[in-house]
Amino acid sequence: MEILKVFKQTEALLEGHFLLTSGLHSPNYFQCAKVLQFPNHCENFCKSIAEHFKNDKIDVVISPAVGGIVVGTEVGRILGARTIFAERQDGKMTLRRGFSVSKGENVLVTEDVVTTGGSVFEVMELVRSFGANVAGVGYVVDRSNGKVDFGVKKFSLLQVEVITFKAEDCPLCKQGSEATKPGSRILKK
Ligand code: ZN
Repeated sequence: MEILKVFKQTEALLEGHFLLTSGLHSPNYFQCAKVLQFPNHCENFCKSIAEHFKNDKIDVVISPAVGGIVVGTEVGRILGARTIFAERQDGKMTLRRGFSVSKGENVLVTEDVVTTGGSVFEVMELVRSFGANVAGVGYVVDRSNGKVDFGVKKFSLLQVEVITFKAEDCPLCKQGSEATKPGSRILKK
């Protein structure tokens, strides 16, 4: 699969035996920013997202900071839509910097990686609090393997299952290898 290949080539997807910040072990590690640092990949992914929502009369593209901003900026450029981002202030997702959404506007929410969709749901709620319409959610990687349901039109480029193990149950540990923190050494592709 082409997209998966790009993720592996750019080391956005590492395969091996990793110790995640949660303390869990995993055979995979994702860092979407590693692939989005290349403008050609970012542009190609965002073209697919924009294409999917091109008939939805998108007025505004909004992303949760920080990971979604690069995706939103490129999708917004392609759609010719105003592009803003939401950020947390005292833990609450909010619009700052003079950004606003008007009643009745069609808004596309963009993100880099969705796992449970928590930040996206908060941005959707924020958009609706202004009386605007959430037309859809476009994102690069779906780590829920497509299970997350936003209740609106959605599109992602890559759907993957997150595989994690508790240290004591980890089959990779049982095979005798040691879990490493991502980035601490380069693994074979
Ligand atoms: Zn392990």
